[in-house]
Amino acid sequence: MKHFPIFLNVEGRRIVVAGGGDAAIAKLRLLLKTEARLTVFAEDPAPEIEAWADARRLTLHRRAFGPGDALCAALAYGAAEDAAEDARVAAIARAEGALVNIVDNLHDSAFITPAIVDRDPVVVAIGTEGAAPVLARKIKADLEERLSPVLGTLTRIGKAFRHAADALPMGRKRRDFWAAYYDTDGPRAFAEGGQEALRPTLERLLDRHLNAAARAGHVAIVGAGPGDPELLTLKARRLLDEADVVIHDGLVTPEILELARREALLISVAKEGYGPTTPQAEINRLIVEHGASGAQVVRLKGGDPGVFGRLDEEIDALEAAGVAWSLVPGLTAGAVAAAAVGQGLTRRGRNASVRILTGHDMQGFADHDWRSLATTGEVAAIYMGKKSARFIQGRLMMHGASPDTPVTVVENVSRPDQRVVPATLATLPQAVAEVPGPAILLYGLAPRAQAAALSELKEAAQ
Ligand code: SAH
Repeated sequence: MKHFPIFLNVEGRRIVVAGGGDAAIAKLRLLLKTEARLTVFAEDPAPEIEAWADARRLTLHRRAFGPGDALCAALAYGAAEDAAEDARVAAIARAEGALVNIVDNLHDSAFITPAIVDRDPVVVAIGTEGAAPVLARKIKADLEERLSPVLGTLTRIGKAFRHAADALPMGRKRRDFWAAYYDTDGPRAFAEGGQEALRPTLERLLDRHLNAAARAGHVAIVGAGPGDPELLTLKARRLLDEADVVIHDGLVTPEILELARREALLISVAKEGYGPTTPQAEINRLIVEHGASGAQVVRLKGGDPGVFGRLDEEIDALEAAGVAWSLVPGLTAGAVAAAAVGQGLTRRGRNASVRILTGHDMQGFADHDWRSLATTGEVAAIYMGKKSARFIQGRLMMHGASPDTPVTVVENVSRPDQRVVPATLATLPQAVAEVPGPAILLYGLAPRAQAAALSELKEAAQ
């Protein structure tokens, strides 16, 4: 690094620019953003520079730069776009103690002016030591897009609130407060109420964080049910209303997330095929981190947290970290799938027990006591069974299950796009091939209407 980036305090300092053409205008546009006192020397200044002079934004001397003109100047720009003239200016200014920049002459310059992303007081300076101006412009364009145009306003008003925010203990608690202001609450308040809304938002946010700091953190592991918000428990609803942080699975529907408190931080930890995968260790880390920071956390899981939900691993992590937790059950997808086809999970005379199975476990296809399932007319709700449909079919038929045994595939249970595909053990692989979404396989259960039609058919045949 030949050029060391620093932010120079130029408030009230003198900066001189020698030149009155395009190069001078380009530099002046940047310099006019500062609180420096600008002086321009130009025999024939462009109208824009004259206008700035008329508006008293700079001092204009209609003559060539000469000895004594850079005295007490912090910076001097040679912007004549003429090598000999710029060299003359640079020699004088250097002798008079100013740092000198010659436009488009890296070699003879003591400093360079970076590309700037201006969200005053947040300023990002980008330099490539002259190696790749195109790249600097690209980085600038990327940052311009990434940094909200209101960041400057947020920061200015945030800065005036720093003293009040010192009421929060230093470290994580204070950092969380500022993160919430800059990431979510601030931009949202600005979008809705403009600049005036920011101060009241900061006050409310501080109140909440002061209370949270005093309160112990807590993680509620909550079942969200299969998707329909009306199938949430009242307790789940209330906890969502109160949560500071909601850490949710990919299976939780947007309609349910809508119910979270508006200020809540929503973190998605999707897994298993539906979107990007978050490792379990990372999920454990997140719930512990937020719980330990004093937040009221809802760990929201699809269906019931205790059904194929890796519940114990999360509880173990919370216990190990000494974070308080509670468990709120939800309707599991299998139970709701049975309801969707108009059947009970059990029925006198048909099946007195029901199995909850997974089609694949961590080792691959899951093995079960297929024999009893094949021969006793039992009912099973099979989760994660799409990929292993052929394997399940093979095992059950091998153990003597009839190919006509009903298996009903229920996709997107309880959601607007719920679909019921009636099938039999023989046609199961074709049936699952039709459903792209999450699905429950109801082994031993046909949809009620079909069951009725079938028994009618049987009766007619007799
Ligand atoms: N804890 C969840 C199950 C998680 S395992 C529960 O109790 O429902 C994930 C599997 O559950 C999916 O592969 C799918 O088989 C099933 N599942 C979850 N939500 C579902 C839904 N809305 N519709 C159909 N199947 C669903």
